[in-house]
Amino acid sequence: MNPLHLLRCPKCAARLIKSAPRRYETLVEHCTDPNGDFGDPGARPTLQCSWPGCQTHGIGAYWAQDGEGPFVKVFMSGIRWIDGNSGPLESFHRDIKTKVRPTP
Ligand SMILES: [Zn+2]
Repeated sequence: MNPLHLLRCPKCAARLIKSAPRRYETLVEHCTDPNGDFGDPGARPTLQCSWPGCQTHGIGAYWAQDGEGPFVKVFMSGIRWIDGNSGPLESFHRDIKTKVRPTP
């Protein structure tokens, strides 16, 4: 089984499931190619929460297949993420959001 399918929602802990392909820009892409000189990667597979009642659906939250995201404007959403972290449970991106802090 693909371990990426074990990622869980950072709001309700339900499994993240495959969602519609969408266009988004990762942080690495934003930093390395801010003007899009290397081309548009186009729509790519995404993940969303599997529980239809989850608040993340209300703001249209989705994640990249490796858990990066969510790719929505979440700061004003009022969503209270588990442990204040919007990275999916069991993901690398949750881990770095916990351990990497900006310097004061
Ligand atoms: Zn959820």
